[in-house]
Amino acid sequence: MSLPRSVYVHVPFCRHRCGYCDFTLVAGRDDLIDRYFEALRLELGRVEEPLEIDTLYLGGGTPSHLGPDRLQRLFAMLRERLLLAAAAEVTLEANPLDVTPQLLAAATDCGVTRVSLGSQSLDAATLRSLDRDHTPEDVRRAAAVLAGAGFAVSLDVMTAAPGQTLAAVEQDLDAAIALGPEHVSVYCLTWEKGTAFESQRQRGLLLPVDESLERAMFEAAIERLTAAGYEHYEVSNFARPGHRCRHNEAYWDVRPWEAFGPGAARFDGRTRVTNHRSSTTWIKRLLATEDPAGDVDAMSAEEAARERLVVGLRRRDGVLAADFQAACGFTPRQLAAEAIDRWIAAGLATEHNGRLELSREGLLVSDSLWGDVL
Ligand code: SF4
Repeated sequence: MSLPRSVYVHVPFCRHRCGYCDFTLVAGRDDLIDRYFEALRLELGRVEEPLEIDTLYLGGGTPSHLGPDRLQRLFAMLRERLLLAAAAEVTLEANPLDVTPQLLAAATDCGVTRVSLGSQSLDAATLRSLDRDHTPEDVRRAAAVLAGAGFAVSLDVMTAAPGQTLAAVEQDLDAAIALGPEHVSVYCLTWEKGTAFESQRQRGLLLPVDESLERAMFEAAIERLTAAGYEHYEVSNFARPGHRCRHNEAYWDVRPWEAFGPGAARFDGRTRVTNHRSSTTWIKRLLATEDPAGDVDAMSAEEAARERLVVGLRRRDGVLAADFQAACGFTPRQLAAEAIDRWIAAGLATEHNGRLELSREGLLVSDSLWGDVL
């Protein structure tokens, strides 16, 4: 098995918990940051020899919430174990409110090349309905200073927010495009168990947008972003030529990757190990020299191939049967012939010269197809 060349580090701290969010995070618990650093240092000890990597992704939570000094401290710790290869992609997720000249100076010093801005919307009413703590002006200002400082910028756009109209989504997309980001990720709001949004939905206080509107919003995203020169390279992701997220491409190519931090999942090509999702439990276990893993998923060759098929089909390039078989020993048809025929008959997929790919229609309903494969 080859060594991982991609590393994910989960930084679980946020200023505020957005009502829809079920990520691994702690809000308003900056008192835990020092213990998080101690635990992370211990977990990084798993890497015995310095590991050379091509992509590093700091996600969360809100990594930018650490601020400039602690960001430098984090990178000093990471550099003890990780070597960034020449032209490595180093991504930092940031809240627009945290984007200050001091943070940018520290990020430049640390070798950050790319900032993924948790913008979600450029409309004040949508941001309020999403329970976000920033304004459209904060996003505009942050995107401008990031671009001015030479970072590649990725913007998140969320659709299907409570009360959001198609026109509001179209305006949001136009406003995001006008900021000139290199990359845009478009996500549809999901209603996760245990979130404030879900409990308000159950009490009738919040209403999800209906499915046909949700779909129209996603279609509008594809149309507007591709018309503006973005390549739609994965179900939710759009990039200017040469600006695909290389870190995510490693996941989708099913290459091995390392991961550290609460809730972080690492993968060695066959087994996925996910750390405990509770930040405090992850810290406690590491400080007690216990294993921080919460879940170990050792896949059979066939299960791994099925996962490979799903991540492959999420990409616009689809799956080339010969390459797929060379990588995992199965052809897509050996795994899911009946489903593939059904998708093709329904116009959800095409198969030409050994390449299987979802159609536009298929991409719009892709989440409902994966059960056929897994
Ligand atoms: S800032 Fe991001 S990670 Fe933090 S609560 Fe909001 S959506 Fe979740």
